[in-house]
Amino acid sequence: MTAAASRDELRTVAAEAAERLAEADADEALRWAVERFGDDLIVASNMQDAVLIDLAAKVKPDIDVLFLDTGYHFAETIGVRDAVATVYPDVRIVDALPDQTVAEQDAEYGPKLHERDPNRCCHLRKVIPLQRTLATYSCWITGVRRVDAPTRANTPIVTWDERNGLVKVNPIAAWTDEEFDDYLHRNGILQNPLVGEGYLSIGCAPCTAKVAPGADPRSGRWAGTSKTECGLHA
Ligand code: SF4
Repeated sequence: MTAAASRDELRTVAAEAAERLAEADADEALRWAVERFGDDLIVASNMQDAVLIDLAAKVKPDIDVLFLDTGYHFAETIGVRDAVATVYPDVRIVDALPDQTVAEQDAEYGPKLHERDPNRCCHLRKVIPLQRTLATYSCWITGVRRVDAPTRANTPIVTWDERNGLVKVNPIAAWTDEEFDDYLHRNGILQNPLVGEGYLSIGCAPCTAKVAPGADPRSGRWAGTSKTECGLHA
């Protein structure tokens, strides 16, 4: 299927696959996506680790990988992105950039918008660049898992992403933390060194804190606020 497929055609493809692949494992879901969409798909990664990239690259070594380069990442996160390019030399990393640099955003909205209005900051620096990039594909693949958060408990393997107008595949949606860690360690997969320091869910540096032992891994994101999601997986 090409990027020229209509929205209605893609919606139908998603609906059929959602039913047929409801219990599919990660490899089966990825193989379906690659066979169906070829080059017309992209894998999203926040560079906390390269588990999803590794799984996808085993099926399609030259797969596109989307990284939202917000301008606020930890140096370690940029290091993982660069290491991915070395370990998976055929993968094409697509850096999605906001319209404004951090300095330009500060000039227009005032400094530290992430403290005063994190939803707007995420919209400007994540949601819009994501939408702009996804508009050029028919399918995107994410590492969302049901155990990530209560809001993700019903994440399907394949679904229709109405807001972005393309098929969304979540190959490891059903993975437990134990299954995830087992794959990561057994295969020597790249992982952001900040995880070992207690940053169990890594986003932009100003909005990511260490997590207390035993606490919800995502409790370190926008800590002290009611915000729990970037808005990428609405
Ligand atoms: Fe801005 Fe924080 Fe969202 Fe990053 S996570 S885009 S710094 S509000």
